[in-house]
Amino acid sequence: MRQPIQAVYPGSFDPITNGHVYIAERAAGLFDRVVVSILLNPQKKAAFTVEERKAMAREALIHLPNVEIASFSGLLVDFLRQEKSRIIIRGLRALSDFEYEFQLALMNRQLAPDIETLFIVTEARYSYLSSHAVKEIYQFGGAVHEMVPPGVYRRLRERFPLPRDLAP
Ligand code: ADP
Repeated sequence: MRQPIQAVYPGSFDPITNGHVYIAERAAGLFDRVVVSILLNPQKKAAFTVEERKAMAREALIHLPNVEIASFSGLLVDFLRQEKSRIIIRGLRALSDFEYEFQLALMNRQLAPDIETLFIVTEARYSYLSSHAVKEIYQFGGAVHEMVPPGVYRRLRERFPLPRDLAP
């Protein structure tokens, strides 16, 4: 019997967007098991706690039975070893992602030559979508409900109420 093929999709997911969901769906169609891992980066100031990010990701990906949600701090390659995975999934949007992703992939290869980074290209409608953009647009009153799963939109409004949410 062949071993199940497991992949890890790491990121900040602060919060998860429809672009992330798309990549997770594509990965879920390719591998037996996909672990979406919330990366703890003390240098990055996050809008949501890890537990909140996990809850939002779990809710957004509930339709994918072979996808699990986890979090980790430390080296990504160590997490992969723990999960018995040799595949890192990353999403690619515009060309601007390339340099950063390329550097990250080479660094991880240097650390663990047996681990491969695979890129999944986003869909055109998500190519400008990022967690950062969602938070910025939302805080200036722009409509983001079509960019994020419903549970994320709900939590955004709880965390950063709109003027109309505060009206008596
Ligand atoms: P990080 O802080 O590691 O960049 P993100 O949560 O911003 O984490 O992104 C995780 C991964 O998902 C990255 O590979 C990123 O390029 C990818 N990603 C983010 N937004 C999108 C999107 N709209 N479409 C496709 N991939 C995306």
